[in-house]
Amino acid sequence: MLAQPRILSEADGDCVAIERVHGKSPVLIICEHASRTLPENFGDLGLSQEALSSHIAWDPGALAVARGISAGLDATLIYQRFSRLIYDCNRPPSSPGAMPEVSEIYTIPGNKDLTGEERRARAEALYQPFHDAVRALIRDRQARGQDSVIVTIHSFTPVYNGKQRAVELGILHDEDSRFADRMLASAAEAPLYRTERNEPYGPEDGVTHTLIVHGTSNGLRNVMIEVRNDLISEDTGQGVVADYLTGLIQQSLDA
Ligand SMILES: [Zn+2]
Repeated sequence: MLAQPRILSEADGDCVAIERVHGKSPVLIICEHASRTLPENFGDLGLSQEALSSHIAWDPGALAVARGISAGLDATLIYQRFSRLIYDCNRPPSSPGAMPEVSEIYTIPGNKDLTGEERRARAEALYQPFHDAVRALIRDRQARGQDSVIVTIHSFTPVYNGKQRAVELGILHDEDSRFADRMLASAAEAPLYRTERNEPYGPEDGVTHTLIVHGTSNGLRNVMIEVRNDLISEDTGQGVVADYLTGLIQQSLDA
């Protein structure tokens, strides 16, 4: 029998990070694509440094914005510490996109022809513990009488497959649009960015997995926020976007 493929080493540490665990806000911030770190056993997956620092590995700026919102609202933040190139935690294990062989213009040699066992090992090392940790947070909050409104923070590339994207902020939802509707109404009252519903993609693209699993399935309000990553490439932009989103989220909670 072959040894189990080893995903995380001792040195890699835990795949889940939680900040502001006792945050008072009902908002629970989730950032699945926070990091471009690869576990040490994976080397560079056969990719160039350019590819490894691009949006295919992570959502540039998303963690900084998530931290800004977490501070602004006093909200708990949970994020994945490893790159979505190994496992994309916003996809179920059955999805080919969970461990893509191709992402936009890049072929990912280290993800080619993975065996069922390799796929299972990655899901067990990165997907299960991450979503178990989110479930545990929600359960603990329920036990304390604290509401949970699921807010996931992402960023998207301004140019995708050679096409420029005009949208700057996407407010995404699946079947439960309660919180997204309120955020869109607040954004329309105080427009700062070109903001659109379910853009630059939407539920038909499979991006609402986390919302469905933790929000809609539990009857919890939820929203996915997508920020065009050129707006949040440095501190100033990250701060401005985080402040704006903090305001929209707070207004949507109060409405
Ligand atoms: Zn993302």
